[in-house]
Parts: sequence; C-alpha cells; structure tokens
Amino acid sequence: MNTVTKRILIVGGGTAGWLTAALLAKQHGQSIEICLVESSDIPTVGVGEGTWPSMRTTLQKIGISESQFITECSATFKQASKFVDWISPANEYFHPFTQPAGYGKVDIAPYWESLSVAPTFCDSVTFQSHMCKMGLAPKNITHKEYETVANYGYHLDAGKFAVLLRNHSVNKLNVKHKVANITQVNQHPDGSISDVETDSAGRLEADFFIDCSGFSSLLLGQTLGVPFIAKNDILFNDTALAMHVPYKDKNDPIACHTISTAQTAGWIWDIGLQHRRGVGYVFSSKHQSLENAERILKNYVGPQAEDLVIRKIQFKTGHRACFWRHNCVAVGLSSGFLEPLEASALMLVETSANFIADQLPMTKAEMKPMEKRFNKVFTAKWRGVIDFLKLHYVLSERQEPFWKDNKKSSSIPETLQEMLMLWQNRVPSEYDFLQSYEAFNAASYQYVLYGGGFKTDFSLLSHTLTHKDRAKRQLEITLKTAQQMALRLPKHRELINQIKLQGFAKL
Ligand SMILES: Cc1cc2nc3c(=O)[nH]c(=O)nc-3n(C[C@H](O)[C@H](O)[C@H](O)COP(=O)(O)OP(=O)(O)OC[C@H]3O[C@@H](n4cnc5c(N)ncnc54)[C@H](O)[C@@H]3O)c2cc1C
Repeated sequence: MNTVTKRILIVGGGTAGWLTAALLAKQHGQSIEICLVESSDIPTVGVGEGTWPSMRTTLQKIGISESQFITECSATFKQASKFVDWISPANEYFHPFTQPAGYGKVDIAPYWESLSVAPTFCDSVTFQSHMCKMGLAPKNITHKEYETVANYGYHLDAGKFAVLLRNHSVNKLNVKHKVANITQVNQHPDGSISDVETDSAGRLEADFFIDCSGFSSLLLGQTLGVPFIAKNDILFNDTALAMHVPYKDKNDPIACHTISTAQTAGWIWDIGLQHRRGVGYVFSSKHQSLENAERILKNYVGPQAEDLVIRKIQFKTGHRACFWRHNCVAVGLSSGFLEPLEASALMLVETSANFIADQLPMTKAEMKPMEKRFNKVFTAKWRGVIDFLKLHYVLSERQEPFWKDNKKSSSIPETLQEMLMLWQNRVPSEYDFLQSYEAFNAASYQYVLYGGGFKTDFSLLSHTLTHKDRAKRQLEITLKTAQQMALRLPKHRELINQIKLQGFAKL
C-alpha cells in the first residue's frame, strides 16, 4: 500500500486558508508537513464578520483561548439574525441560534399561534429573541471559556482574525508559512497536481493540495478546469458596498445579533464589533444603480457616513460543479460564494476543513472514494444553503421589482417549492432534511417561515395535535426563562469590557 499523504500545501492565507491550516495541523501536524503559501500582492477579501456557533468548537479545537480571541479580534457575541422590513415595512423577526424549546422531543410549532402566549413565533418558542431585544450577553464573566447559557457565535474583525489564526498556526501548530506569488501550477500525467512554482519561494511540491485562493480559484477552477455553476437566476445580489462605522460613544450598546434590513433592491447588514459597526449594502446591480445604492447605504448610516470610506465588492453567485478533484479540494471562496445573508461561508469552511482533517486519504486508493463522498456531501450542503437563503425572499410581500422578481416561480428551486407545498399542511420537521448533509435544520426553517408570516393549515392533521397541554407548559416556561435571564445576565457591552479587563476562566 503506497502512502501518498506526507505533505499538504494550502494555497491562500485568507480566513479559509488559515482555518484549514490550523484544523489540519491540530489533527495531523505530528506526521504530515503542512505548508501555507500566500501572496503579499493579492489581498484577502477582508470581509466576513459574522460566524455560526460552530466557530466556538473550532477555536476550542485548535487551542485558541476565547478571551484572547475576543480581545485580539475586537470580537463580540452573536446570538441571532434579526430581519427588519423583509416581509413588509415595520415587520421584523429573529432567527436565533437556540433551538425552539422542546425541539426534537415535542414540536411546539403547531401550537404556538392558537395558544397565543406571545405575539410572534420566535418570542413564543425561545427566550433568545427576548435576550437580544434586552441587549443581554449570552453568558457572564463567571462562566468558563466557550461555556454557554444561550447558544452563540461571534462577530469579528476579519483582518485581525486572519492575523490571530496565522500567528497561532505558525507559532503553536507548526504550520510552515511561505509568502510568494504562485506563477504556475504543474500536473502529473493523470491530471493531479504535482507542485506549484512561485516567484520567490521556489517550487513547492505536495501530495495533497487545498485551494484557498479566493475568488480566483487558482487550482480547482483555473488549473483543473472545474466549471463554475452560476446561481444568479435564484439569488440576484451581486454587489456589496461596505463601511466601517465608528460608535459615537465608546460605551454605546452593542447589538448581540446581526441586523439585516431589507432595502429596495437588497438588504443592509449591520454588525456590532467592540469599537465600530460593520455596515454593508448587498444588492442586485440589475435592479439598482451604484449611485442609488450608495445613497441608500448613506441614508441608513446617517450624517456620519459622509466622512467614511465605502468599499465596493463584486461577486459571482454560485459554486464549482464539484469541490474535490484528484488530489485537490477547494475551501472558501475558491469553492463558490452565496450572499452573506446567513453568514454561511465560514461555516462551510469549517465543515470542509473538518471533513478533510477527519477523512484525509492516506493512500492513493482512498483518494477517489473520498472525492466522491466529499462532493456528495457538499453538493447537498450548497443546495441547502441556496434553498434557505431563497426562502427569506419568497416570503416577502414587498412590491419593488427586485422583490417581485424574487417571487417568480421560475427563480425558486424545485426543492424549495416542494417543501413550501408540504408546509401548507404540516410544520417543517426533521423528515424534510437529510440531517447530517444539510446546512440548515427544521428549527431554522421554522424560525424564518413563521417569522415571515407563513401560515400552515392544520385542519387536515388536527387529529395529530395531541400535545397541547405540554406545549402550553413549554411556552410558559420559555417566557419565565426570558425574565430570569434579565436578572442573571449582563448587558453585552458590559461583558465585553469585563473580558478585556480580566478574561474568562480557562476551561
Ligand atoms: C460582502 C461579503 C460579506 C461576507 N460576510 C460574511 C459573513 O458575515 N460571514 C461569513 O461566514 N462569510 C462572509 N463572507 C465570506 C468570507 O469573507 C469568506 O468566506 C472568507 O473571508 C474566506 O475567504 P478566502 O480565504 O476563501 O479568500 P480570500 O480572503 O480572498 O483569500 C485568498 C488568498 O489567496 C491568496 N492568493 C490568491 N492568488 C494567489 C497566488 N497566485 N499566489 C499566492 N497566493 C494567492 C491571496 O493572497 C489570499 O491570501 C462575506 C463575503 C463577502 C464578499
């Protein structure tokens, strides 16, 4: 049996490259040489400020202290996304990270409306939207690192995060680091990659290559010729205008959720870091001119926007036809990109890197079956993300052309149409998803579907609704829990200040 994997080369030093390097080095660094090459001339994309709770597991796994991460990356806690004006003006709903009470045991989704304990689905089934509205942190300073009271991810400064990951990977995990431009990629006769040539670090050979080269997709796209499958017929946005907005006062409250506010031809993200907000307008250039988009963003930010720099980022919506070919896997933007509505890109990076680390082929014979498995899993994941993002648009009642175009059935994937048809008579459940392959589960669909005003008619299945008493108790407990949280937990800004002063106790 010929051992093939002795050296891994990661191309690209953005968040995708360094996260992948750290996760691989943690698991294989003792026996496999892991090297990352990045260009100092080609900048990283430099955005990507929202993460999922999975980032807690990742940071813990690679051995980064949570207090250090929060201090060095200007990071804050993220408990949810709040969608404002998406359905109609003045409507808002939350998609929190904590699952509905009773989820997986008694599904209380069919009961919340008739029991009318709280006015919205989310406020009825979880304490977390109440916490977000009260501006509470998801834990307090006496909790240990990565411990939770309420499930959370982070908001972070992408540039500082890449620096922390790089220093940690190189100094603590023994990742080799080269700064050079790749000028040529060479292949074996069977098409697999043999080495890359660089302008200042010579020829870099490896057995396994990870393409984290960003939108250029240098290895998978350009060298191996894997085509890009556009999805802009489903998700229309293709441009982002981003701004860094300083707080007016250093003690201004920090939102503990991403605020996403619908606009005429897209939506604005608003993310609170420690020292500034990251604000950006993601829109469809087919539906709105750049001038109008700039005006909308500046209106949102207010008078201080006049002095701030606006950065324009254009992107193609879609993904590669496959993500692993021969001895090369694409992770991050090189594999594709969908608008950042649910901050799913870094989650896909983490899941890809974990898959590679857990299932790394050690022999040539294993390479092909692993390629097939990875492509199957990630094709399903990308499809799931597309369906879920599109759901946010399909529920809207807004009348501008962008929103009406989004509701045309020709733009809605068949998989989503089928689920929407089923959910007319039943709530989203685990039966709708191939759990381990899916990016979003039934809980997420319930939050967005019912937050967005979707009505399920239970008349055909009313005989199955036999848990009314239990559901009522559960809903009442949820409201009581929200009240208790207000007594137990500090405001978000207060916790951040405490962490910077003294840090959490180590786990
Ligand atoms: C507007 C916007 C908002 C986003 N918001 C979020 C969010 O909230 N949450 C989230 O999870 N994700 C978000 N993302 C996605 C997120 O930014 C990316 O997934 C993440 O930054 C990873 O990028 P990357 O490392 O793949 O690519 P990049 O950051 O582009 O890095 C590419 C690397 O490849 C190197 N490289 C390229 N060519 C060569 C060469 N020839 N030789 C040597 N090196 C080379 C570059 O030097 C660089 O180091 C957002 C993206 C956009 C566009």
